[in-house]
Amino acid sequence: MCTTTPDHTDNISPDYRVFDLRGAHFDIGRALGQATPRFENMPWWSPSPPLDFALACAALVGDIHPPLLDESRGYAEAQSLHYEDLLQGVCRLSLRQRAVGGCTSFALRRDGRIVVGRNYDFRTLQRMRLRIRLAPDAALPSLGMQGSMPGGRYDGVNAHGLFVSLHVVMADEPEERAPGVPFHQVPRIVLERCRTVDEAVDLVARMPHLNAFNYLLADPARFVAVEAHPARVRIVEPEGDSLVVANHYRHPDMVALQGRRDRSASGRRAARVEKLIAMGAEVETILRDHVAPLCEHRPHNSTLWSVVADLDARRVAYAPGMPCAAAYRPVAWPSRRSSSDGRA
Ligand SMILES: [Zn+2]
Repeated sequence: MCTTTPDHTDNISPDYRVFDLRGAHFDIGRALGQATPRFENMPWWSPSPPLDFALACAALVGDIHPPLLDESRGYAEAQSLHYEDLLQGVCRLSLRQRAVGGCTSFALRRDGRIVVGRNYDFRTLQRMRLRIRLAPDAALPSLGMQGSMPGGRYDGVNAHGLFVSLHVVMADEPEERAPGVPFHQVPRIVLERCRTVDEAVDLVARMPHLNAFNYLLADPARFVAVEAHPARVRIVEPEGDSLVVANHYRHPDMVALQGRRDRSASGRRAARVEKLIAMGAEVETILRDHVAPLCEHRPHNSTLWSVVADLDARRVAYAPGMPCAAAYRPVAWPSRRSSSDGRA
């Protein structure tokens, strides 16, 4: 039984608006820049790195997926921001979040299909929870969630049935920092450039990473976890018909990077999902579970949204809030057509 409404405790009204945009990335950026509040540093963010470092990170993004920089230019123009200030603002070296919980995602093969489930948990202070369906001129159509960082996606699917989600990992930081792709742009690049898990693994394993994150990648044929850190990247394959990704590394080469940090909460969530999958629980039932808990209800930290997707059937549904309280609503699969074109 769920009795709390945590979004009210921080006195913010969450922004769950939905966007369905197409065209050039610059124009997409301008539309989002016009529609959203002026970009500013969130209270939980660490200071930005020097401008030359942020420009070097943006140059890496530009090497991999140049249209994303066009989108930033359009966004900055619409908000009367300096483009360089925006680049610096979305470049964060440190993500020390003082035990704010995290996210849980899983993929499983059941009745010959691959389905995924995902809860995004974070501070209720995070107001931006935008669901964006895109059909860009110069990239693959996609659907996904954008948080406080413009230009990024925290999870989503694309027109080819590829799913990706991110999960922060608390890990040691390198003494010497090198430029890398910021965490929120990794899923966005995958969704816009890759058709399969194989393509995504090839891209994500080769790019330099700015932050310590896990990414779940799934398509109608297979699923893997990518464990990323500025120092190295490793791939974790499923051992059976399912794979759970949370806020800790599993690969033996990655575990030491977490030092002595307490990983018990993340481990409990992953173990609970594995148990529920083994029991044959439905994906939505798993995401509503309160034992570990998977559906999070702490006063300043809760599940901000939840997503389920059947990658074979091209079906996806989002719940705008804690999934025990907010219903999953089907969303039109990403395609070149607008969701209002009469497509189911
Ligand atoms: Zn709940």
